[in-house]
Amino acid sequence: MPSSKLKSPTITDLGVTPIIQAGGPNTKHSGSRPRPETLAAMEEASKQFVNMDELLIAAGEELAKLVGSEAATITSGASGGLVVQAAAAIAKDDPDLIKKLPLTDDVPHTLIIQKKHRFIYDHLYLAPGARFREAGDDKGCTPEQMEDAIDDQVVGIVYLESSNRKEGAVPLPVAAEIAHRHGIPLLCDGASMLPPRIHLKQYLQEGSDLVSFSGGKAIRGPQSTGLLLGSKEWVEYARLNNAPNATVARAQKVSKEEILGLLAAVKVFVSEDEVAETARYKKMMNLVVDQVAEIPGVTAEVIHNYDHYIPHAVISFGPKWKGPDGMEIQRRMMAGSPRVYVAAGLYKGTAVVVDGLNIQNDEELQAVARRLREELLKASQERRR
Ligand SMILES: *Cc1c(COP(=O)(O)O)cnc(C)c1O
Repeated sequence: MPSSKLKSPTITDLGVTPIIQAGGPNTKHSGSRPRPETLAAMEEASKQFVNMDELLIAAGEELAKLVGSEAATITSGASGGLVVQAAAAIAKDDPDLIKKLPLTDDVPHTLIIQKKHRFIYDHLYLAPGARFREAGDDKGCTPEQMEDAIDDQVVGIVYLESSNRKEGAVPLPVAAEIAHRHGIPLLCDGASMLPPRIHLKQYLQEGSDLVSFSGGKAIRGPQSTGLLLGSKEWVEYARLNNAPNATVARAQKVSKEEILGLLAAVKVFVSEDEVAETARYKKMMNLVVDQVAEIPGVTAEVIHNYDHYIPHAVISFGPKWKGPDGMEIQRRMMAGSPRVYVAAGLYKGTAVVVDGLNIQNDEELQAVARRLREELLKASQERRR
């Protein structure tokens, strides 16, 4: 219990209107709800002081046990993990070089990335002084093109596991084999690829030396955390280049509360019944689809595939649709009351995507379906200018 009698400010006190979050765990819309277990573990951890190196090593061992990897450590988001991955590839355990990053003019610092794997966060890999050399083109990359791009300045291959990036790309096991033949690591970003839980092991089994996942998406740990999994050797290089050490990643510190909060969340996440979870989201999404399916010009369907980590309600617009596009529907949903955030513009043109991860109860679900129906009905009677 707080000892002061002062009332702590709430989000509403600040004049910020909360949203019903039906657009998936993206950071700009505040990620995901930390589990009750996450918050309880954070509170408990706040009562004891530790040596942070000791805690990070022990927590890494526990995390590795929970997910079934050889080794693991904790980073500030998956993004922080990408910075640390690149730092590890350049500096490994060389104490002088670790201190010098991001100044890399006189040491090898090139990372190979398939052109098709360029994405909005890839500059995090550059933060510790790395530079990219692209292989292939927008359509894809062959193993030969990847191999040809490697010379003695190359310290690693970056691999993005994300939706829509498989076609034409060098498959992960092939990229890993190429990397290892040249004595360099495969650095994988799998940030948003959970569930399915199998991915926690798959990318490592396929040959990644390091892989980053977000702790603040479906795992529902603290928003600011990430899991960095890999081999003993590469996780140790990563740890040495990470906060709390005085390295290029020092600004990315993770508190003891966040570390314990993440462990608590992962423990629950890996024990959950994925079949039951999928069935629950399907049922929720069917309710949304039923509300909008008959609106002329739209196709509403529940989709659960590589692009959709859990069953999503996807509302796409056919040739008969003359109303405003999905981005405008998204804006109107946010401008209404209650404010509802849905995703749009990521898939099938400007399809509106409803994600159930952050929908907190039946009342919110009903509100999402109702608001979507209202906006789509109204829009179906408008003509685009
Ligand atoms: C979400 C995401 C990130 C960033 O993860 P954080 O945990 O928010 O730092 C990085 N890469 C990809 C592909 C993502 O989807």
